[in-house]
Amino acid sequence: MNLENYIRDIQDFPKPGIGFKDITPLLSNPDATKACLELLASTLADKKINKVIGVESRGFFFGILLAQKLNAGFVPVRKPKKLPFDTISASYALEYGTDTLEIHTDAIQKGDRVLIHDDVLATGGTAKAVCELVEQLGGEIVQMNFLMELSFLNGREKLGSKEIFAALTY
Ligand code: AMP
Repeated sequence: MNLENYIRDIQDFPKPGIGFKDITPLLSNPDATKACLELLASTLADKKINKVIGVESRGFFFGILLAQKLNAGFVPVRKPKKLPFDTISASYALEYGTDTLEIHTDAIQKGDRVLIHDDVLATGGTAKAVCELVEQLGGEIVQMNFLMELSFLNGREKLGSKEIFAALTY
């Protein structure tokens, strides 16, 4: 199955110049969703991951599926003021201004083996901020995986030597 057939390109969304990768056709097809989940999970056997982080909001979909598949706990990383308990936060630069992500302080314990999941790796700013949150809480990042990597934006360069897997690369 060619997963690329289930990704829809929307030009100039949410702003002029952005080519948005819409995953709703993938999510609406159970066979494509299963195939994508199997592909992501195939790289994770024997890695003893016990926590899967999903990044708000499109990282939640496959994040929770992966957590179930790996028999790991699911942890949401969210935009500011969404999480109700004690949080720590990390900020990262956008084209104009900054953005912030938060995690519950009790979501990761020292020594947890963590998978970070999001839909798209673009410039890498989001993923780097999530790494900072996990490392502040003492978690070990085993892999970061994405449905898609926009390789022309060189996001990997921001993420050092961490293991990165993308189901599709553009
Ligand atoms: P970045 O921090 O630049 O790596 O951007 C990654 C975050 O922005 C992810 O949470 C994505 O959901 C979102 N994102 C960035 N670029 C796109 C794109 N072209 N299509 C869909 N989502 C994107």
